[in-house]
Amino acid sequence: MSYVPAIVIHGGAGTILKSLLTPEKEQAYLSALQEAVKAGYSELTEGHHALDAVIAAVVSLEDCPLFNAGRGSVFNHHGKQEMDASVMRGDTGMAGAVAAVKNIRNPVLAARAVMEKTPHILLTSSGAEEFARMAGLQFEPDEFFFDEYRYRQWQQLKDTQQTALDHSDKKFGTVGAVAIDINGNLAAATSTGGMTNKQFGRIGDTPLIGAGTYASNKTCAVSCTGDGEYFIRALAAYDVSCLMEYKNLSLEEACRTVIHDKLKPAGGEGGLIALDRNSTPVMVFNTPGMYRAYMKEGKTSAIIHEGV
Ligand code: ASP
Repeated sequence: MSYVPAIVIHGGAGTILKSLLTPEKEQAYLSALQEAVKAGYSELTEGHHALDAVIAAVVSLEDCPLFNAGRGSVFNHHGKQEMDASVMRGDTGMAGAVAAVKNIRNPVLAARAVMEKTPHILLTSSGAEEFARMAGLQFEPDEFFFDEYRYRQWQQLKDTQQTALDHSDKKFGTVGAVAIDINGNLAAATSTGGMTNKQFGRIGDTPLIGAGTYASNKTCAVSCTGDGEYFIRALAAYDVSCLMEYKNLSLEEACRTVIHDKLKPAGGEGGLIALDRNSTPVMVFNTPGMYRAYMKEGKTSAIIHEGV
């Protein structure tokens, strides 16, 4: 059986309207998405595992300050940038994640290290940081992660108890990738700074396997973005897989059911990207837009605003 390698990425869902972007900003986002999707796709064309592809794409997005993950993450109530990330492979069902970590340059690499070097799945805060140091991962000072725009977003909220999705401020956030390699293996990865002014120690859906990230070769690979608390209660990523496995829904039907029929009526805004072994990219959201791109058979497509 031969499979068509493909990768889909997102840079967060939200109020992303063409009318709110200058042509320069739009171009900057499009270029960043293209760069990330190509970084992932080249792993696939070199015959590497889908896991390598999702990691390469997410590292590229974490390193780009335009997105709320890694460098450029949002600020929490204490004015700190605490990040969450996870990864899962569809062939072995192995997964790894880190939550509420600071100063790790690429939290998704720490998530992978948890999966590959420990018997555990999720490490948090100082324990995860200590582990990442021992695993030889790169650390950066606070200034590396600082972003003036994010800081101003936080300044507006810091004296309140409110939290805000990064993208409810017309910006976007969390990043993620799903991929299928030439051997038909699926993988998913997601990384975020969470929500502006979130409580110190708050953990969202991103590092929770089954909520923000899921992959199984039996069904699909999924990466979510949106109101984390809703995605956790809905077990959104795993629900897509379950609808395929137990109800025989197509990937597209399963994604639409979760995003439009379950999350939306409950008040959960956001979207997800997904792939099954047919390599058909699915990108669904119930917000005005979602930063997204895919690459398949050498062709890329990056879209950053209106859609479905
Ligand atoms: N899902 C993320 C969280 O709740 C936020 C986002 O998608 O931007 O932490």
